[in-house]
Amino acid sequence: MRRFKLVFNENKCKGCELCVAFCPKNVIAIDETVTNGKGYHPAAAVNIDACVGCCSCARMCPDCVITIYQLEEGEE
Ligand code: SF4
Ligand code: SF4
Repeated sequence: MRRFKLVFNENKCKGCELCVAFCPKNVIAIDETVTNGKGYHPAAAVNIDACVGCCSCARMCPDCVITIYQLEEGEE
């Protein structure tokens, strides 16, 4: 089974929720416990085990906040 890792450039996020809306696996949510340097609650991966690496989130983000990595066996 392939596994993926999402890295968010959190300070560039404006909390628009496009990535949340376009993820077919409900991997991403807005983290209301965090406020970034722009004053927004940023997006975060809350269900990474469900990620299928489709890249919809990264493609939809207007600010190129999200980078997706495919993990090798044993890699975290
Ligand atoms: S790569 Fe696809 S499945 Fe994974 S978080 Fe992004 S939209 Fe969701
Ligand atoms: S689409 Fe980009 S800017 Fe909008 S909430 Fe997601 S990561 Fe943040």
